[in-house]
Amino acid sequence: MITVPLSAKGPAVSVLGFGASPLGNVFGDVSWLEAESAVHDALDGGINFFDTSPYYGRGLSEERLGRALLGRRDRAVVATKCGRYGADNFDFSAGMVRRSVEGSLLRLRTDCVDLLQAHDCEFTSVTQILEETLPAMERCRAEGKTRLIGITGYQLGNLLRLAVGARERGLQIDCILSYCRYDLANTSMETRLAGYAAEHGIGLINGSPLHMGLLTTEGAPAWHPASERARLACAEAARLCAAESVALEEVALQFCLDREGFGLTLTGMGTAELVKKNLDAMAASRHPELTLRVRALLRLGGAGELWPSGLPENWDTEARERAGAIAAEQDIVRESGLEEVYP
Ligand code: NAD
Repeated sequence: MITVPLSAKGPAVSVLGFGASPLGNVFGDVSWLEAESAVHDALDGGINFFDTSPYYGRGLSEERLGRALLGRRDRAVVATKCGRYGADNFDFSAGMVRRSVEGSLLRLRTDCVDLLQAHDCEFTSVTQILEETLPAMERCRAEGKTRLIGITGYQLGNLLRLAVGARERGLQIDCILSYCRYDLANTSMETRLAGYAAEHGIGLINGSPLHMGLLTTEGAPAWHPASERARLACAEAARLCAAESVALEEVALQFCLDREGFGLTLTGMGTAELVKKNLDAMAASRHPELTLRVRALLRLGGAGELWPSGLPENWDTEARERAGAIAAEQDIVRESGLEEVYP
């Protein structure tokens, strides 16, 4: 397994990380046994980075990960989060950071996590993260409850503002996790964040290399924010790959893993079967020409579009434009009376 430093301070982590959100049943039901087998097979296959959150299944993902790592904790680098607890349930206050970490440590059955991240920072103000959340997380570090501190989110401009602001205040951010921002459809993490991160020794964690399921043969789940146009482009990309007897998800994962010097890639794996599939994809031969064609198709089909998430003041410009387009579409539907026909 190829390893990369998680941050300037280390530790070495596998270039393919285990996203533990599926252990919280967020993509469908996973049994305790399946969850445990997935974690054990991942460890045995050389994967040592595990990312979870109290948000994933309201603690279930942490609980299952903690149980699966009993007797194996020293082989794993464990990251969890604070601040997000439900689809619309956020609390980035200092008091909650403390209570949240205590709960995570109990569920994960450990005295100290390797990385504590403020989860989906665009859902609160920059001021609160800088003046309340990060200082509270620093206190957790001083008390030995976490080794490293990070921030996560979708809006890259907001993450960059937070990293710069933290630095100005003498606060150390070790890692930044974003998602759907470096993959076959969209590579904006590279242009917007990679330079600053490299310059300041911040580790980048690339979440959702399959664009939250959009870049798979099966396609994205119904709740995915992608437009119909983007879904069609991805379905066409899947057909293009299938014609060459390759799965789109294999090409998508390899594209992320092969980007040297770019931190680790984190995909969701709730079963031993998916762990094996992704380890096999890692080892499989590459498809450079097909990759180029797929990327061109996705670009033309608008698959790299952004979407609004969090407080409007924190949106990236393109997400703001997409929000405008969505609102305009809704207006047209309302004005045309179609809404009454198709509620
Ligand atoms: P993803 O885009 O790689 O996967 C999305 C879906 O694809 C999941 O349902 C997964 O089960 C499925 N999948 C995985 N491998 C597959 C394969 N080989 N073939 C077919 N389907 C496959 O990643 P994701 O699950 O969206 O995110 C990965 C992890 O990143 C999460 O578990 C979480 O730990 C982290 N993450 C964090 C944030 C945040 O902090 N805000 C956001 C997104 C993701």
